[in-house]
Amino acid sequence: MMRLVHAVGIERLLVELSDVIEDDFRRWDLFDKTPRIASHSKEAVIELMPTSDGEIYSFKYVNGHPKNMAQGLQTVTAFGLLAEVSTGYPVLLTEMTLLTALRTAATSAMVARHLAPKDARTMAIIGNGAQAEFQALAFKAVCGITHVQLYDIDPMATAKTARNLSHFGLKVTACASSQAAIEGAGIITTCTADKQFATILTDNMIGAGIHINAVGGDCPGKTELHYDVLSRADTFVEYTPQTRIEGEIQQMPPEFPVTEMWKVVSGQATGRRDARQITLFDSVGFAIEDFSALRYVRGKLAGTGLYQDLDMIADPDEPRDLFGMLQRSRKI
Ligand code: NAD
Repeated sequence: MMRLVHAVGIERLLVELSDVIEDDFRRWDLFDKTPRIASHSKEAVIELMPTSDGEIYSFKYVNGHPKNMAQGLQTVTAFGLLAEVSTGYPVLLTEMTLLTALRTAATSAMVARHLAPKDARTMAIIGNGAQAEFQALAFKAVCGITHVQLYDIDPMATAKTARNLSHFGLKVTACASSQAAIEGAGIITTCTADKQFATILTDNMIGAGIHINAVGGDCPGKTELHYDVLSRADTFVEYTPQTRIEGEIQQMPPEFPVTEMWKVVSGQATGRRDARQITLFDSVGFAIEDFSALRYVRGKLAGTGLYQDLDMIADPDEPRDLFGMLQRSRKI
């Protein structure tokens, strides 16, 4: 995956991936959709995210363990699989830890292309962990952001992000508070990790016209925004049944109005109406984005040699003679 990202170039990859995700959002009706299948433990979650467009099937296995960081482990790790529906045979098995960061950022930027103020050039990023640089680069490449203002409760995380972003032509400012980070920003990205109802943004921090890209609140009992921010914003989601369980809107009653992004990208709903509107993308990550990412990777891999042909499935010469294949293998 790393060699593929370098071969394509990370900013070009983020632009292409955001286009592929937008294409699949336009084909929304074709897909099987289900909220992800989550296995919750006290402070973490392990999830399966399946979908299919009738021709290709995909799933991702992903965990979310905010406490991992204290043990020197990652919060989010993932792998995923693509299969052909016509045969059921798997055709691609790949790491998706990096790919999840890329697809999450590409989705956020694709959504912001429709919702954020067109003249926004400065973005605040609150939470400077694993996702932060990907978000910064996607917003640069897709939305034309030129300046990022960073804040994390851990100054080492902010220093890491500033260092990593220093060669990408972005102006990067490390801030000492979230209030300082949002100063003058037209877009605010929150990507903190804490399995609790946290309040990263309060109502008094949000001025008219802001676009909020809320990435970190993505599981039951884990949110980043104060209830009052949601009351003032127009909220956009991926797949409503999943977001009601996992997103910022889990704080709101079930009838709280939201707009699914596929409707905006296909012209069936309005995104940004006016310059004073506060828009909120309540991102939780949906299976179709992983499907898009896997489909994109498969297309890019062809002819590169950046993959291995693995024996993922048993392959008897005579399809019904599975046992005979096993017996003959003793002599090999
Ligand atoms: P990470 O653990 O690498 O980084 C999280 C950072 O947040 C840490 O640096 C931590 O110090 C900081 N933080 C925690 N509380 C904070 C606070 N109150 N104010 C400022 N900073 C704070 O995690 P990550 O991989 O970057 O993921 C961030 C979040 O995004 C996680 O909750 C993850 O589950 C979520 N996520 C969502 C999607 C999606 O599609 N919506 C995809 C991937 C990850």
